[in-house]
Amino acid sequence: MSFSNLRFIKIILLFSFIVSFLVGCSPKEQIQGPLTKSNYILGTLIDITLYNNKDAKIIDEAFDRIKEIENKMTINSENPSQITRLNDASGSHEVEVSEDTFYVLEKGKYYSQLSQGEFDITIGPLVKLWNIGTPYAAIPEPKVLAETLKLVDYNKLSLNEQRHTAKLEASGMKVDLGAIAKGYAADEVASILRNHGVKHAIINLGGNILAVGGNVNGNPWKIGVQNPFNPRGDYLGIVQIDNKSVVTSGIYERYFEQDGKRYHHILEPRTGYPGDNGLAGVSIITDKSIDGDGLSTSIFLLGLDKGMKLIEGLDNTEALFITTDKKIYMTKGFKDVFTLTHKEYTLMN
Ligand code: ADP
Ligand code: MG
Repeated sequence: MSFSNLRFIKIILLFSFIVSFLVGCSPKEQIQGPLTKSNYILGTLIDITLYNNKDAKIIDEAFDRIKEIENKMTINSENPSQITRLNDASGSHEVEVSEDTFYVLEKGKYYSQLSQGEFDITIGPLVKLWNIGTPYAAIPEPKVLAETLKLVDYNKLSLNEQRHTAKLEASGMKVDLGAIAKGYAADEVASILRNHGVKHAIINLGGNILAVGGNVNGNPWKIGVQNPFNPRGDYLGIVQIDNKSVVTSGIYERYFEQDGKRYHHILEPRTGYPGDNGLAGVSIITDKSIDGDGLSTSIFLLGLDKGMKLIEGLDNTEALFITTDKKIYMTKGFKDVFTLTHKEYTLMN
């Protein structure tokens, strides 16, 4: 864990407060009612809150599953995962992976194709080069950057459905599932909760939100949409949803600043630099959180015009775009469920 314990506890308290505020419970009711557990896995703070079925064992099972996903898919641990094994075998041989890792790799390749390479599941070497989110983050040398970019190409990730194997065709290539693994984990948690008969729950994986059912009064949940200019927990508005996921990608998450410029962690595979197209953030509503996660990163990099077009061609998918000059554009379905609460923003369409 890269945080101090004190900061971690403060964030947990802030999140518990925000969740109780947004679902309309007083702190007193929250103590008697919902059961929340928090944990730091997949590089992020995770809260799971149950509102009817208050069996702590269900939440423990959910956290065990997230831990299992982390163990299989992380590239940020000393212990080798299936993905580090795949990366280590780049340019050499194929590696057999589990069913869930294969599914996430397939989804990663799908969003790479859908976004025509703006999202690229083989972004690993570029992410490592920038080191954003670590104390070593720095602007890379142009020559090194150009060499590294040659290693980013999702077309050179081969997946074999029959054998459940994956292979990176060129030596030095690296898969990085950071843009979709949290979404997948949220979906897996939802299915564990539903299998145990949980009807009302909120899963929050570092801002990837998945609402199970509606709230206990039979109404949609009211979920805060992350303000992309501020750290987690500051909302620009509220969406009302049930059985849906809301995922935001933006400039707020991990970044460093140099000479007054912000370098954030969503990297543009063509230039090798953080995406810089006038968007500060994108929020996506979908049924499955893995799709919201894949799309929020993709659409953030595609920008407003191309992103809007792509979303309008997808079923059951809605988007909100926030520009760097604090203007908000939405698809029709997003408008139907969204209320702006932050004064600094202007609704454009
Ligand atoms: P977060 O995980 O912070 O909520 P995202 O879902 O947008 O935000 O994922 C960002 C992460 O995805 C980065 O930290 C990095 O690991 C990876 N990534 C960065 N740029 C790209 C890209 N162009 N395509 C795919 N993954 C990316
Ligand atoms: Mg994402």
